[in-house]
Amino acid sequence: MNKEKILIFDSTLRDGAQGEGISYSVSDKLSIVRALDDFGVDYIEAGNPGSNPKDIAFFREVRGDTLKHARLCAFGSTHKKGATPESDPNVLSLLRAETPAVSLFGKAWDLHVHKVLMASLEENLDLVGNTVRYFHRQGREVIFDAEHFFDGLRDNPEYTLKVLEVALQAGASCLCLCDTNGGTMPMQVYKDVQLVRERFPTAQIGIHCHNDTGCAVASSVMAVEAGARQVQGTFIGTGERCGNADLSVIIPNLQLKMGYDCVDDSLQDLLQTVRQVTEISNLQVPGNTPYVGASAFAHKGGMHIDGVSKLSSSFEHISPETVGNTRRFLMSEVSGRSMVMRKLATVAPELTRDSEEVAAILARVKELENEGYQFEAADASFELMARRTLGRFEPHFDTIMYRTTSEYPPPAGDNSASAIISLVVDGREETTASMGNGPVHALDMALRKALNVFYPCLSQVRLTDYKVRVLTGEEATASKVRVLIESTDGEHLWTTVGVGTDVVAASWEALCDSLEYMLYRRKGE
Ligand SMILES: [Zn+2]
Repeated sequence: MNKEKILIFDSTLRDGAQGEGISYSVSDKLSIVRALDDFGVDYIEAGNPGSNPKDIAFFREVRGDTLKHARLCAFGSTHKKGATPESDPNVLSLLRAETPAVSLFGKAWDLHVHKVLMASLEENLDLVGNTVRYFHRQGREVIFDAEHFFDGLRDNPEYTLKVLEVALQAGASCLCLCDTNGGTMPMQVYKDVQLVRERFPTAQIGIHCHNDTGCAVASSVMAVEAGARQVQGTFIGTGERCGNADLSVIIPNLQLKMGYDCVDDSLQDLLQTVRQVTEISNLQVPGNTPYVGASAFAHKGGMHIDGVSKLSSSFEHISPETVGNTRRFLMSEVSGRSMVMRKLATVAPELTRDSEEVAAILARVKELENEGYQFEAADASFELMARRTLGRFEPHFDTIMYRTTSEYPPPAGDNSASAIISLVVDGREETTASMGNGPVHALDMALRKALNVFYPCLSQVRLTDYKVRVLTGEEATASKVRVLIESTDGEHLWTTVGVGTDVVAASWEALCDSLEYMLYRRKGE
């Protein structure tokens, strides 16, 4: 069966960059462009050269890069009222970006034409026609973004459709229907796209949804059902207000559930691409994000785990490998023996369900959970605990002492804390000191400094998340805390846990576990 192709238009670097707290340097943008191109998206909208000097620098840099598959796209608006395309500086900088494609937005809602643009309806049609024609004649592929399309269609359908007609006649290759305010419901999107399709049967239709009703993914998928063949969005749904449609969910939906082709076999690189993009964007992927969240294929309930172990499709809608994710079994009292057996598969595959060793590990889990540990997310600490219980743990290093101090006001720059540590590796003592922006950071730096001498591979490890949870409220600051640390070597993620009444001590425990885990993995034991 020949699958129908849906073009994927990524706007992480343009609309996504409007998201609160997001800011990209030129080199961030170049790295994201490469990641998206490797993944196989069709268009990468990378900025607005007319409004942003950083984007002008970026387009200058990117010109030398040859992309394998994606077409680079710059974003800008129709020319200013009272000017011509040739005399409008924004139009000229869009042209100077020298991208093969441009996305040009124009007003498609009469309310905006009157109240925001302060132009007549006829004038706006001229702006759209002139600008599209100008870029088309310069040999650019023009994607026309019909701003506020759905609101316009509701209020003045004939005018909104007229705007599309003008853009199409002037040479636009795609009519992209934008739900700029994000307020349209999926069924309405479906009907409206169908209407456009009937009116312009040969035109390529695109869809651009915002997530203000939490329906951006649903609306995008419905638009495709109604005939849209280009989908715009951002990775993990970044963007202004509630964000844009999330491509990391739309792509697998279209490809796995609806039989379209978006990125073909690259789908198995989806999670890796999401990780690259979110790392550079300094964002966390929410655990419950469909397909790519850490919990998307995590099973906890005893019966679920038992079911998945027998037949994965019993509790999973797709196989996690299809999108590059992995199945996880979460540790907890309720999940019981089959859970522990699953987790032990890497450490001690020879153990049987009824063995004494498995009983001992189960008992140890209960004991530690009573003390406040939680192995649900902390797979790495679970593995080390199992090794310790089975007598198969040989530490790569032993702590002799550590000491931390925090100061106010900070003595230098951001470094308000310092740490000194001593440890032994193979009978050799190593003592190091380090500054940090807090006691845990200082300890982490000193620990790596000491261990790098013996284990250079640890320089690849970075902490990606650090969580502290207070366990009992009664004793106020004397209560216990649980620290969860997530680490990565750029390829894998793992989590470790520490518990104590002293947050530094609990963090130290989780830090040491994280590095021990990496060293065990390295050995392939
Ligand atoms: Zn938008």
